[in-house]
This record gives sequence, C-alpha cells and structure tokens, in this order.
Amino acid sequence: MSDSNNGWEAVIGMEIHAQLATDTKIFCRCAASFGDEPNSNTCPVCLGLPGALPVLNSKAVELGARAALALGLTVNETSIFARKNYFYPDLPKGYQISQYDRPFSSDGKLTIMTAERDEGGHAKDWQPMTIGIVRLHLEEDAGKNVHEGLPDTDKYSYVDLNRAGTPLAEIVTDPDFRSSWQAYDYVNHVRRALQWVGASDADMEKGNLRCEANVSVRKKDEDGFRNKVELKNLNSVRFMQKAIEYEIDRQIKAHESGEEVHQETRLWDEKNGMTRVMRSKEDAHDYRYFPEPDLQPLVVSSEFIEQRRAELPELPDEMISRFTEEYGLGFADASQLVSDSSLADYYEVAAKASGDPKSTANWILSELLRELNNSGRSAADSPVKAESLAELIAFISDGKISGKQGKEILPEMFETGKSAKEIINEKGMEQISDRGAIEKIVEDVFAANPEQVEQFIGGNDRLAGFFVGQVMKASKGTANPQLVNEIIRSKL
Ligand code: ZN
Ligand code: MN
Repeated sequence: MSDSNNGWEAVIGMEIHAQLATDTKIFCRCAASFGDEPNSNTCPVCLGLPGALPVLNSKAVELGARAALALGLTVNETSIFARKNYFYPDLPKGYQISQYDRPFSSDGKLTIMTAERDEGGHAKDWQPMTIGIVRLHLEEDAGKNVHEGLPDTDKYSYVDLNRAGTPLAEIVTDPDFRSSWQAYDYVNHVRRALQWVGASDADMEKGNLRCEANVSVRKKDEDGFRNKVELKNLNSVRFMQKAIEYEIDRQIKAHESGEEVHQETRLWDEKNGMTRVMRSKEDAHDYRYFPEPDLQPLVVSSEFIEQRRAELPELPDEMISRFTEEYGLGFADASQLVSDSSLADYYEVAAKASGDPKSTANWILSELLRELNNSGRSAADSPVKAESLAELIAFISDGKISGKQGKEILPEMFETGKSAKEIINEKGMEQISDRGAIEKIVEDVFAANPEQVEQFIGGNDRLAGFFVGQVMKASKGTANPQLVNEIIRSKL
C-alpha cells in the first residue's frame, strides 16, 4: 500500500494454525499422518464417542514449547484446556478442545524483519518490526468435510475424521500490520521458525500451516476499528499477500464511495485475482467456552522449559547476524541463506571449504538455487555437495577457469554428478592465465583488424570491448578476461 491512499491505513491481524509434528494425535494414540484411507486413523476418543476420555500427548506439549521458544515467547506455567462449543459435521463431539482464558503462552512480542517490495517483487529496505503476540495456544484440529473428488458429491458430502484430534498451535497477533508485505514477512518468519526447531512441517500446501488475515482500513488519525474482513483458505503466503492487497484496495474504494464494508469471510480467487464472499459473519459466535472437565490444568515446570530451550539449535535470527559478522554478508543475502536450515548448513560448509564466503553466497543464491528450484530439490539433497561447489568456486578464485566457464560447469555437475575437476579436464576448459599466450592471441587479433587498431590508437576507446570480444572468441572463452583487458589496454 502506498501513500497514494488518501490518508487511509490498513489494519491487519494474523491467525496461524500450525500442526505440531507429533506421530500421534493430541488426546489419543491414533496416527496423525496425512493421506491415509479416510477414517482409518480413528478411535472412540477422536470419534467423540460418549464416555471416551482424552489423555494429553506429552510430545505435543514439548513441540508447543519449542514453537513458543523459537518465537521468543514465554510459556505460562499453568494453562487450561477449554471446550469451544459449536456444531459442525466434522466435529463429532460438538466441541473442540482448545484453550481460552489461560493459554499456553500469552502477551508476547516478536521482532521480525520486513520490507516493502517494488513492482518486480524486490525488497526495498529491510527494517525490524515488533508485533504483539496475543497468544499461542494448544488445541485439537477438527476433521474434514469433503465436497469434491468422491462419487455423487452433488448429492452427498463426506466426513473424514483422520485429521480430528491432530495437535495444533494457534498463534494470534495484535492488529499491528499496516501492509500486506509485513503480514507476508511475518508468516514466513513464523513458518521458518517452526520448521527450524522441528515443531511443525509448516507446509501450507499440505495444510499443516494455515493462516487467516483480519483486514480492515481506517483513516490514519482515526481511533478504533471499522468492519473487518476475515480472509481464509489462503494456500500460499504469496496468495495471502495478494488477497490482503486486494482487500485493502477494495475497502478503501468502498469507504470512499460511501458503500458499507460488511463484516464477512472472504476467499482468494487466484484465477480472477480477487477476493470473494464465503459467508457473512454479522454476529460474533458465542462458543460458550468452559474449562474441559476431563483434563487437568497443564502445568509445565521451569526445568521442562529450560530443557526445551537447551535442545534448540541456533535460531535463524542469531544465525543471520553471525553470517553478516563472520562472513561479511549483507542482511538480504544472509537471510535468504537462512531461509531454510539445510541451505544455511550447505552454505557454511561451502564457504569454509572455498575460503571465499562472499562469492560462495553469490553462487548459492543465484546459480545453485536456480538448479535446485528447477529440479524441485532442497539443499539437503543437492546432487552437487557443498564441498564440490566449493571446489568449483576455488577454481574460479584461483583464476584456473573463468566465472563464465564456472556457470557452464555447474549445471553439468548437477546433471552428471561429476566433479568440477573432471569436467574441466574432459573439456580442456582450463582458463588461459599465461600472459605470453594471451599476448600472442591479442597480436593475432590486432593483425587481423588493422583498421580498428588504427581507430583504437587514435583514441576510440569503445573498441577495447570489440578486441576483448575477439580475443575471447579466438580463445574459445578460455582466456582470463581480466588479463585480456589489461593486455589490450597496455597496447594503447
Ligand atoms: Zn483417536
Ligand atoms: Mn483455532
């Protein structure tokens, strides 16, 4: 959103549901796995049969604590499970076990880095931003209603309760975001933090990280809030950002033309690039929360928390500042390398082995990432190991091959699994860095182009580029371009 918005500002709050990466459900021993035969991972507890009693999965508490700590939040010593009552076919008990007035973690602050983006999607200026985290609580997921992909879905809906009872951490922010990109950077921050510490797979496509954005707009000098719209079913962080952007615009236009902005839930329609009404939400739900009588208050000791803290790996923010200090990287490069822990590990191994941390960062962020993205791989299963990439980079730093040759070699290393050295030998690709040999080629080129030589000596400096090109061509790209340039200019 830009300043062209006539004094309007956006007010955005985020809710994230992240599935905790346990093997079993939060209150029973059924598998929490994804993609099994419908209703195969069920038992009396998660089917909500009368008399069945929930038993809290300690692993869910452990991972919930990891999630909270990874976000810099404090875990409350005592939290209370509560019943959130509502009726829906995917919720056979008629209530969801969640937490209400005594959540697992509350009143936190989280600092993220955020930047607005230009037209091409490039970050402009990274700045820290601190967001209020209202709560992080633990709850069970509901099942799933299936309306398509099965026989006669025009007549029937199906219910799959495999997901019922899988553990979730719900994270709710204050309405602190003022732009879609801030919300975008926030979700990415949370997603990475949860993956980093193994609290959640946080994969939006698989639905184990779901986010909702509450969006309204108001005049900058206005107190209080106008009607807000809840954006749901956002399948990717990018779609979420686009949906928020669209919504801000739509609401400003509506207010300016005197139309009412209704309190409602809207979806993102990627095909048409717009949000659409899913349902109106005129009245707030009354969930009639009350403490879950079948579960004790959840009490976590400070020893338990300290133990979880001690288990945490170096966190992304710490790693980013270390990369900037230790390797002299800029924030943008460091944070891109730390976008994923396997990529960060890959970088460290390669930077140390190549002895050139800056060009290693460049190589990874441009050439390697392109190859990885093209083949749908992560750094962890890159066919070119960190040590092999380092070897290639060292050949370039030593002037053995040119950067351009390096860029031809890497895709081949990727495809064949051969080392840089093998490919260089096979292709006779070694860069000519021998002054005498290059001088010889330069002289040949001069001899073949007497007219241009005359103009060059006469002061037409632009011809230097022409000669470099000719020499590179004559050497089949193997001459060291720096040396070529130097020699040509020395002839002037
Ligand atoms: Zn079960
Ligand atoms: Mn929830």
